[in-house]
Amino acid sequence: MSTVYFVIPCYNEEAVLPETVKELTAQLQSMVQEGLADEKSRMLFVDDGSKDRTWELIEQFHSENQFVNGLKLAHNRGHQNALLAGLMTAKEEADCAISLDADLQDDVSVLPQFVQKFQDGCDVVYGVRNKRETDTWFKRTTAEGFYKVMAKLGVDIVFNHADYRLMSKCALDALSEYKEVNLFLRGIVPLIGYRSDYVYYDRHERFAGESKYPLKKMISFAMDGITSFSVKPLKIISNIGIFVAMISIIGLLYALISHFLGNTVSGWTAIVCSIWLLGGIQMLCLGVVGEYIGKIYSEVKGRPRFRIEKHLK
Ligand code: UDP
Ligand code: MG
Repeated sequence: MSTVYFVIPCYNEEAVLPETVKELTAQLQSMVQEGLADEKSRMLFVDDGSKDRTWELIEQFHSENQFVNGLKLAHNRGHQNALLAGLMTAKEEADCAISLDADLQDDVSVLPQFVQKFQDGCDVVYGVRNKRETDTWFKRTTAEGFYKVMAKLGVDIVFNHADYRLMSKCALDALSEYKEVNLFLRGIVPLIGYRSDYVYYDRHERFAGESKYPLKKMISFAMDGITSFSVKPLKIISNIGIFVAMISIIGLLYALISHFLGNTVSGWTAIVCSIWLLGGIQMLCLGVVGEYIGKIYSEVKGRPRFRIEKHLK
């Protein structure tokens, strides 16, 4: 029998927490009864610096429910860092940890399947979504586009897998060796290796409250994912440079030949348009280079990724 931890990052989730605790407790209890998990198994709620009553609720559940543990981060560090804080704590206390969202979007009825696969010898079990019907058309297309771009850039990433996954102690130990500040777990976990498998599930609507991933955060998350795992954008901009230079040589030859044939190329439009076009391309390229420099800047500083203020166990 193994000690199983559910790691649940929570940011302003007071509206969903009571239901989440209820459903997860039922799951954990039945896993204990079936002999999949032992009595030391816990749900570890990580409060990511919430501004609402999330932490008070976690404290209250901790006092009433033997299965509830809590971790309070000193300030809001974002989903990935909150998850990491929870996983690093679970690494010390459990045999395996399953990360899932607080809003019950990840189908909790498949939780025993994760543990079953772990007991069959897998170190990483990825939760993969069957279909994306509950998402808006916009979220679905942007997400699909993102996975395709990542695959094109050569990043090894599991399609339609978010952060619903099981990791064994040994996989968590390996994860702790990745010290990057710009954390993108979906990209790092496949790099770890070890034996892995999949569990398929249907993703539900958010139980209550609102998504903490508005469009702006989604774009920056996707950009982070791309620039943390691939330098292909830098190669693409060099190729754009070569392409533009070749076009300008052709233009130059055309202008010279025309001049010697007696009809000098004239025109304000051509000059102004090409200056603006090239100016635009240059700024775009500088922006891409800037993204990488920004990454280096934050990695070099190596600031702590999270700070634990309180730990209820
Ligand atoms: N979350 C977090 N810190 C944040 C934002 C979100 O810990 O700064 C948690 C949130 O409470 C939830 C999970 O990350 O448990 C996923 O967030 P959400 O459900 O809002 O994202 P979506 O499912 O809409 O992509
Ligand atoms: Mg959600």
